[in-house]
Amino acid sequence: MIEELSCTCGGCDRELREESLRLTYRTESGERRAYECVCGTVTITVAR
Ligand SMILES: [Zn+2]
Repeated sequence: MIEELSCTCGGCDRELREESLRLTYRTESGERRAYECVCGTVTITVAR
């Protein structure tokens, strides 16, 4: 099983950590988290 907290960058496959978390917001389909990687790619994850 893959933990929902372990996600990787969409640009460079680096692991995204809490210090890369820039934004958290909720939608009807769940919580969204926006991570900004050191490479500059922003990756959005969905957690229910
Ligand atoms: Zn990256």
